[in-house]
Amino acid sequence: MTDWIVPHQRETPRPIDALVLSDLAPGVHRLALTLIDDGAATPVRIPLIVVQGAHDGPTVGLTAAVHGNELNGIPTIHRLFKRLDPAEVRGTVVGATIVNVPGYLRYDRLFPDDRDLNRIFPGKPNGNESDVYAFRLVERLIAHFEVLLDLHTASFGRVNSYYVRADMNDAKTAMMARTLGAEIIVHNEGADGTLRACAADRGIAALTVEIGDPQVIDRGKVKESRVGLRDVLEELDVVDPDGERAPRKAVECDRSKWLYTDTGGILDVLPKLADRVEAGAPIAHLLDPWGQKVRTYRAPEAGVVVGRATNPVAPTGARILHLGHLAEGGSVGHVP
Ligand SMILES: [Zn+2]
Repeated sequence: MTDWIVPHQRETPRPIDALVLSDLAPGVHRLALTLIDDGAATPVRIPLIVVQGAHDGPTVGLTAAVHGNELNGIPTIHRLFKRLDPAEVRGTVVGATIVNVPGYLRYDRLFPDDRDLNRIFPGKPNGNESDVYAFRLVERLIAHFEVLLDLHTASFGRVNSYYVRADMNDAKTAMMARTLGAEIIVHNEGADGTLRACAADRGIAALTVEIGDPQVIDRGKVKESRVGLRDVLEELDVVDPDGERAPRKAVECDRSKWLYTDTGGILDVLPKLADRVEAGAPIAHLLDPWGQKVRTYRAPEAGVVVGRATNPVAPTGARILHLGHLAEGGSVGHVP
């Protein structure tokens, strides 16, 4: 058997130092955008797929792996873009499949200088490695977008429902959030330092999509989000509707918070993702290594489970559960 390795023809991505969308002819472009250089004087480049439509329309950006171990957004972009025909697209769709390239290579959420990129935007023109990386990402890429969909997953030791964080007071952002077919929408204006907040400050309608778990590719979750993102492109009139439609089933929350342990032990979280919990219902037990209960934690108020811990090793201050507070009347923010 000598033919078990099947090489495929592929196009060589084109390195660029700046993204000039107006220079791109209608079609699909595979580009590698230089942001910084590493210590061996080699450029660090982020992979971009650009679908330049034959017709006028908005520039829509999708970013994945801002946290280097949050991978589900990568195939989501691949599969979404595979179904885009430039001849029919109105506008430009840009997918940055791996934003935090150095973190991705280390299977790590963080940048190699141990900073979280998604806390330091818009970065600094002069500063340490992550500051400059963040700054140039915004200047060279994000600044071109009118819409930003930033694709994440849960962090290590936790699982998330398929949920969206968005400023629901912004009409366009709220429309996109409701179109994605997520299980839960959490209204949140966006913490300082996040890519979403940085984009919103520049007038870009931006939201964060949480797709499953870190360091894995989950086909089911990828399909769900791919269908939802396509629906967003349809609502933005970038493409015509196709046959698939994400169900609009999201539970809308006007706020959410993580609950943390107050002491250490072995954590057992009781509810499942997207479960509703009543105020006072037990949500977790904490055991000592001798099998004795140290704590029972109860829901401080009624809500829905947005995310939960999977790591049973719980020191004082470990995350237990991300509890969303249901919006009065079922919806939050801008209601059409
Ligand atoms: Zn993330």
